[in-house]
Amino acid sequence: MLFDKVVIANRGEIALRILRACKEMGIRTVALHSEADRDLMHVRLADESVCIGNAQATDSYLNIPAIISAAEITDAVAIHPGYGFLAENPDFAERVEKSGFVFIGPDADTIRLMGNKVTAIKSMKAAGVPCVPGSDGPLGDNAATNLSIAKRIGYPVIIKAAGGGGGRGMRVIHSEAALINGISLTRSEAKANFNNDMVYLEKFLETPRHIEIQVMGDGKGDAIYLGERDCSMQRRHQKVVEEAPAPGITPEERRKIGEACVNACRKMKYRGAGTFEFLYEQGGFYFIEMNTRIQVEHTVTEMITGVDLIKEQIRIAAGMPLSYKQEDIKITGHAIECRINAEDPYKFMPCPGVISLYHAPGGPGVRMDSHIYTSYTVPPYYDSMIGKLITYGEDRDTAMARMRNALDEIIIDGLTTNIPLLQDIVRDGNFVKGGVNIHYLEKMVNL
Ligand code: ADP
Repeated sequence: MLFDKVVIANRGEIALRILRACKEMGIRTVALHSEADRDLMHVRLADESVCIGNAQATDSYLNIPAIISAAEITDAVAIHPGYGFLAENPDFAERVEKSGFVFIGPDADTIRLMGNKVTAIKSMKAAGVPCVPGSDGPLGDNAATNLSIAKRIGYPVIIKAAGGGGGRGMRVIHSEAALINGISLTRSEAKANFNNDMVYLEKFLETPRHIEIQVMGDGKGDAIYLGERDCSMQRRHQKVVEEAPAPGITPEERRKIGEACVNACRKMKYRGAGTFEFLYEQGGFYFIEMNTRIQVEHTVTEMITGVDLIKEQIRIAAGMPLSYKQEDIKITGHAIECRINAEDPYKFMPCPGVISLYHAPGGPGVRMDSHIYTSYTVPPYYDSMIGKLITYGEDRDTAMARMRNALDEIIIDGLTTNIPLLQDIVRDGNFVKGGVNIHYLEKMVNL
């Protein structure tokens, strides 16, 4: 029933996480890697490995023909894209399927629909998911019309690129005087970065939290939600610390928003793992985008639900039904994840280099998802995240205490990491209390 062999088209911790799931399921693995990544942990552990190109991601992890050829020469059946790189590229999903392999993720049309934030918002509205008040469609070139749309929404507004991602392609506008120039700047940046100059307007919410809902669909109309995650600790629109459940969210709020997401998944016959991202302000949820892939922070959901999301992704891609019904999903305890990055803790500049000593933290409720080891070289070509430290406890205080201990125990010597910042965060009075908004961290570090 399950796949005989899976290609892992990614690197770092998520490649290792996928490899672990495959091994547990008795599936053979092919690790694809760049020339800079020969020494990655999952490359050593995979049944087979193929070097697919130079260090630059465009030559390797984004090189679609090289990935398809590697799947062909190794007789693989399915391809897991992980997150980042090609995970949300509909053309890749299409090429994978057309070449006779299974793409472990949603179908290309769904990825395309959700990959454009304008079409995503439109279909969410139609499915009854609450959205941020906005332009309800792309902005045209008529200045007067755009000014009146912004006036109707009310300042401040945020101009967003329909094809944006990774915290880029957004510009906050506080007054009418800056709108027209802001639109043309965002448009040309969007064209340069995402090859799509479509932009739209949204109300800029001033003190929201970022709360997202994990879903899983079977591709045939059945879907479940697996609770929420709070990812409000961000710098430059990128997540640093995540937790589940979100502090203060009532079971009733969770059920209501969860059911709205499931309803949307049923309507589009969503297949695989997905995340509905919301801003949460004054008791209201406002949809901002959907991610059609596994997310970095899926781990905290796994800890509080006991569901292995990667294994579930693989089962669904193999055509199996969901292993859980909604009533099987019980939320127990609390989990926190800290992203460990090889970067300056306060300026966020990447700091690649050699790890001269690595000592992993441990104890009850401590999980370290990382590919690093002593003598491993963090290459300069990719994302600076080198691991995720996750703690679990029967309640939030226990998970927090375990995170403080684990961050004090872990040793990563030889390069600069953001561990000092993470240590500050888990001792910060307001974070410990719970429920800080998305601007909190930048204020905390005086950005
Ligand atoms: P990306 O695809 O780049 O991750 P998102 O649309 O998910 O972009 O937004 C990323 C982050 O930007 C959000 O978590 C939030 O911090 C901020 N953001 C986005 N839209 C708004 C908005 N309307 N008001 C306030 N902040 C916003």
